[in-house]
Amino acid sequence: MQQFSTPAEIRAWTREQRKAGKTVGFVPTMGALHDGHRSLIAAACAECDEVVVSIFVNPTQFDNPEDLENYPNMLADDLGICTAAGVGAVFTPDRDKMYPNGYATFVDVVGNLTDKLCAVARPGHFRGVATVVTKLFNAVVPDVAFFGQKDLQQALVISRMVSDLDMGVEVRVCPTVREPDGLAMSSRNRRLSEEGREKALALPRGLEMANQAYAAGERDSNKLIEILAMELLVHTGVDLDYAQVVSLTGFEEVDEVKDSCVLAAAAFVDEVRLIDHIHLGGPALPVSLD
Ligand code: AMP
Repeated sequence: MQQFSTPAEIRAWTREQRKAGKTVGFVPTMGALHDGHRSLIAAACAECDEVVVSIFVNPTQFDNPEDLENYPNMLADDLGICTAAGVGAVFTPDRDKMYPNGYATFVDVVGNLTDKLCAVARPGHFRGVATVVTKLFNAVVPDVAFFGQKDLQQALVISRMVSDLDMGVEVRVCPTVREPDGLAMSSRNRRLSEEGREKALALPRGLEMANQAYAAGERDSNKLIEILAMELLVHTGVDLDYAQVVSLTGFEEVDEVKDSCVLAAAAFVDEVRLIDHIHLGGPALPVSLD
């Protein structure tokens, strides 16, 4: 496996692969890799001849400097995981190579996709995401890029951007990988105490409780949100940031659940911000409701 730290180097590598008739898959990450990331890498390896993984904790998508500073750094482990998974090249740029002095260009996806959910509590977050993904695409020049459904709003923002800006990259959105007890895998889970880890289960459990109410015929969004909120609020130290039902078609808030909708939520546990969502009427989450 090769490791590159400048856009010019990784671009030259991709060019060589393409010259040899190979397709290039790309998995952008912020490191501290877990099985969720591994699933994206596996999907990329299955579809493409060569795979690039980027590991870059992107400062422009952090609205909170402490969150940025506390973000786990496990580069040696990450490189081992990438090698074992069959990755051809990792791209690990330095911050000042990505955003040198005088940097002044940003990509903004506007409208329904970025006026709710995570966008409200994290102003500028999706602008940072759209900007860094554009820069990474320009450096790596992949045929196909792989994102996790766990960050649903992010995956939709990127799909919109790729389509609107004719980027010519195929976007794949892969299913959320969960711990056996239902907690969605996240690099942030490492920051939870043992007690916090237990409390964090309230998030998938509350989502699944709402999903069961939906299956039993409940269509009132507020009632479904209340079921989730009640499950979170019984735990001290769990603070709900948002819970909303949005349609997947227009990404609009709905009062009454009709067709394809998700219940999405963010909560702070031990001051660690966790997000999750469930497709109402979709497969059950592997949580215990006892
Ligand atoms: P991150 O390193 O958190 O920026 O995530 C990099 C990519 O991995 C993003 O496309 C995420 O949506 C995806 N990802 C993170 N956690 C999971 C998970 N539990 N299951 C599937 N994909 C995930």
